[in-house]
Amino acid sequence: MNLDPRTLLFSLILANALTVLCLFVAASGNGKRRDGLGLWALAMVLETLTWLLVAGRGLIPDALSLIAANGLKAGAHALILAAVCEFQRRSVPRWQYVVPVALALLMAAVFADDIRSRFIWGGLIFGFQVVLIARILLTDAETRTGRAWRLLFGGIAAILLVLGLRAAAALSGWGEFAQPQNAIAPHPVQIVSYIAIMATALLGSIGFVLMVKERTDREIMQLAMTDSLTGVPNRRALMEMAEHVVARRDGSPLALLMIDVDHFKLINDTHGHMAGDTVLRQVARLLAGRLRHCDMLGRYGGEEFCVIALDSDTEGALTLAESLREVVAYRPVAIEHGELQVTVSIGVAHCPAHSVKDLKDLIMEADAALYAAKENGRNRVVSFKS
Ligand code: GH3
Ligand code: MG
Ligand code: MG
Repeated sequence: MNLDPRTLLFSLILANALTVLCLFVAASGNGKRRDGLGLWALAMVLETLTWLLVAGRGLIPDALSLIAANGLKAGAHALILAAVCEFQRRSVPRWQYVVPVALALLMAAVFADDIRSRFIWGGLIFGFQVVLIARILLTDAETRTGRAWRLLFGGIAAILLVLGLRAAAALSGWGEFAQPQNAIAPHPVQIVSYIAIMATALLGSIGFVLMVKERTDREIMQLAMTDSLTGVPNRRALMEMAEHVVARRDGSPLALLMIDVDHFKLINDTHGHMAGDTVLRQVARLLAGRLRHCDMLGRYGGEEFCVIALDSDTEGALTLAESLREVVAYRPVAIEHGELQVTVSIGVAHCPAHSVKDLKDLIMEADAALYAAKENGRNRVVSFKS
């Protein structure tokens, strides 16, 4: 296959320009969120300008096609580093942005007539920038929870390949043939470079947009699964987790606690719904603070909470329920005009070791026990007995 370098360079500029357009559309649709998309789009603007100047070599002054082009390329890398930093809400020392750009400009000016040195020193400066980007990508746990960062990493591998190939071409005396303006006798390094640079721009940009999307998806999922008033898992999340643990039990005992605030309607009617909301938040906080790491708490509905206690036999579940009842009863809730004494009633359903019970039955049993607790005077724990 005979690939024409000038056509490749034109395709590279076109692909970059269209990527810039897509990135600005994506960034503007993201409102005022500082997630790095705007900076990435700007980096791609500089990248596009770089290749436009390179395409003009011989037609425009070397100060533009050589020195400015190298400065813009280093600037694009610096902006990519800044975009990843903004996405990760981290910062790196300012010299990591400024020094490589200054060095790239200096290098291009000093070695304007020495392609060999430009390829080698350029490789070192740009390579250093790319390694800084790779390092920050790899050292952030949240970034690595998704898959998209791997695309960025693919782009980084491609650009390192280009820089390595160019340095190798320079060292072996092929530098002149690997230059972009050499369209008469195209060198394979030149062809591979253009393809790899295009791959980097596309992989990197698509990867970064996907990284931002992955984070938004995680945030939406978090919102869909959390009760906005109390911050604990909502009914949907709790039931999903409960279905999962009940289905995958390995024979260990399990208990389900249904917890209901006593006379909550009276609190609302007497002190207002704001006070009622404060009570719900405090009850959720107190319950969450008392649970073991392996227990699951969620808001089941209005003023009802539910706890799934793993690995809890009858005695253990009752001890846990009693301690939950106590912690609420002994901690008055501070409201606008004073303090409120709040109590909860708790119904406990058990699934003994090696027995099988489905979630629906456990909830029905805990509900029946809770009803009995209310009947017997509230502020108490009742265990379901068949
Ligand atoms: P019992 O001791 O028998 O449980 O009586 P109760 O008053 O606690 O129970 P009831 O079911 O009669 O009232 C529950 C009240 O909870 C009614 C509803 O308006 C209120 N409620 C439900 N969700 C919220 C909420 O998010 N905020 C506030 N402030 N009130 C809520
Ligand atoms: Mg209720
Ligand atoms: Mg109630």
